[in-house]
Amino acid sequence: MSFYDELIRHDWQATSDSIVAKTESDVRGALAKERLGLDDFKALISPAAAPFLEEMAQRSMQLTQKRFGKTIQLYIPLYLSNYCTNGCVYCGFNCKTAIGRKKLNMEEIRQEIEAIKKLGYSHILLVSGEAPQVADADYFLKVLREIGDDFSQLAIEVQPLQQHEYEKLAAAGLNFVCIYQETYNREKYGEYHPFGSKADFRYRLETPDRLGRARIHKIGLACLLGLEDWRTDSFFTAMHLHYLEKTYWRTRYSISLPRLQPHAGGYEANHPINDRQMVQLICAYRLFAPEMEISISTREGRRFRDNVVRLGATSFSAGSSTEPGGYANPGGELEQFTIDDDRSPAEVAEMIRAQGYEPVWKDWDSIMTAGAEEKE
Ligand code: SF4
Repeated sequence: MSFYDELIRHDWQATSDSIVAKTESDVRGALAKERLGLDDFKALISPAAAPFLEEMAQRSMQLTQKRFGKTIQLYIPLYLSNYCTNGCVYCGFNCKTAIGRKKLNMEEIRQEIEAIKKLGYSHILLVSGEAPQVADADYFLKVLREIGDDFSQLAIEVQPLQQHEYEKLAAAGLNFVCIYQETYNREKYGEYHPFGSKADFRYRLETPDRLGRARIHKIGLACLLGLEDWRTDSFFTAMHLHYLEKTYWRTRYSISLPRLQPHAGGYEANHPINDRQMVQLICAYRLFAPEMEISISTREGRRFRDNVVRLGATSFSAGSSTEPGGYANPGGELEQFTIDDDRSPAEVAEMIRAQGYEPVWKDWDSIMTAGAEEKE
């Protein structure tokens, strides 16, 4: 049994229609509840909820402050390799894109870590393209062992791995894995992922199940907003989250809201989502899952990020470089996508403080766990 068995019982178009059919009274009903179900989530992401944005934002702000305090955790991605064997049509690392390719060796990683540590980070996200013959589980294991003492939270965003590989990485200190389905539309998935291992919809979809069984501490989900109808994809993301929370209840969860950005191949979003709709989605996720972390990356512009500090976001990347080696030796041409918010970590931290919030550089989970234990 996996989430795949649950997903195939739902038809994409019928789900889409049921979201659009939600009414003002459904939205009011959802807003009146303490604990929301999936049907309430549908109402909150529906067009009928647009006039309720102010009320949703107030609720979202209160729930976020209650659970997380007035804090935003900061993390930084470290791109280890941009080799990739996949053909994702929306990505600048796509194997057909003519860009320089690089995989960092241990010495280069050490240089990157020194540069990152000077910025103050304690939470790092290791990222790579999907090319197991270049960067496999053994390579990630070596990297984790090399940098484990430098950080309080180690996360990865790499190709889907086997359960036993996740178990090995967890034993080396890995505590957070991000795995993005991109879209839950099975019919269209192949158009965006025409070849390579990522073309296997089911294997990717079942990755969080393998992570749950491997007892990884935290799992991050997302769909790539703009590929398909954002409402339908977000509903299936929420359904996935709901399934995982029931099945792997010891695990913590995080959601990201990556929006399609231009890349070297110039791919444009088929189903764009505007800023107001992004805010509606953030608030809907918060009302649906008050305990869940919500992460907003530097793909988003500074104005948008400044505005969502108080609306439900809990985690920001800052000062990011998407090119392997880009912290110690910036200026290459190996970027995966355009960074919209190019402020330094110190500038982002200052913006957060200016809003009365505290930027958190240390391990967020240990702070939260300590708080929870005190309450028990
Ligand atoms: S999205 Fe990931 S898997 Fe797809 S081409 Fe880019 S780096 Fe490769």
